[in-house]
Amino acid sequence: MLVYDVTGRVMPEGGLPLNVGVVVNNVITLAQVAEAAGGKPVTRRYVTITGEVKKPCVVSAPIGATYADLVAIAGGTKTDEICLIDGGPMMGRLVDNWGDGIAKTTSGILVLPADHFIVQMKKRTISQEMKRSRSACCQCFRCTDLCPRHNLGHELYPHMTMRTIDYNLSEPSGHITSAFLCSQCGMCEMVACDIMGLSPRRIFAEYRKQLVSKGIKNPHTRKGFDARESYKNTKVSISTVLKKMGLAEYAVKPEFLGDAEVKSVKIPLSRHTGAPASACVKCGDKVRMCDVVAVPQDGKLGAAYHASIAGTITDVDQKWVGIKG
Ligand code: SF4
Ligand code: SF4
Repeated sequence: MLVYDVTGRVMPEGGLPLNVGVVVNNVITLAQVAEAAGGKPVTRRYVTITGEVKKPCVVSAPIGATYADLVAIAGGTKTDEICLIDGGPMMGRLVDNWGDGIAKTTSGILVLPADHFIVQMKKRTISQEMKRSRSACCQCFRCTDLCPRHNLGHELYPHMTMRTIDYNLSEPSGHITSAFLCSQCGMCEMVACDIMGLSPRRIFAEYRKQLVSKGIKNPHTRKGFDARESYKNTKVSISTVLKKMGLAEYAVKPEFLGDAEVKSVKIPLSRHTGAPASACVKCGDKVRMCDVVAVPQDGKLGAAYHASIAGTITDVDQKWVGIKG
């Protein structure tokens, strides 16, 4: 949508912004690319900590700072029964272990009551989701009406895909393979299907997983089409999204607290594009800030990791490198 609003160009089906001559990046990513070109590796992230915390804030946190430390920096939680989401409410993921460290890609931590509908929705299994969809989808069309990809002209009709749940995947119809066109934005589940509380997004994700496991490739590759007439009338304002998602009370301006100081980090080695990185340090090694602690696997796309605090290596395995300051 951003590409279309700014340039009037529609990304082709199954394509990337680059296919229409555009590169989309976050401001902080561009700033960090510029710093890396000058020799300064990425060791910190600006992270917003908000929701059920006493002091909603933005901090510059070392990569690998634990969720628990960052929530404490935000004044702790207002209630006891809560869950953490790494990322935004639509596309973020539930955090299983507060002692894990934030990733290169973490930009927000959302703290919500454990009984909040967003948390409950994220906890549902795909089997529960399928059963609920099969029994409760009333084919009202709202998910298709508000789907950004549909309105941009892509051949994606979420309500039709909801009809296919009992179909045979050995000869998938176009409404099943259209799973390759879903951006997983969450508009259908969080805003459109607000009465039934169903998730076309999860159904698409499951279809896509199954199609990929069967070796089926995306057959939808149309290009050169324009956005649908409905595009301009189906945008949803941020205030409406916040109300629909039960988040309006958390829409406060966070305070900027500067650098978050932590005594230890647990750096995840797989939260980036490509193959997980391989640790190149061992327990007991002393590291300085910015020393390389993990490198991309030979011949594979990946990322290197650098010490985000100075100290001693305390843990090394295939998933994490721990440093005590
Ligand atoms: S909005 Fe919900 S109930 Fe309506 S068609 Fe879509 S999934 Fe079914
Ligand atoms: S998540 Fe839903 S609204 Fe978003 S692109 Fe997929 S089907 Fe459309």
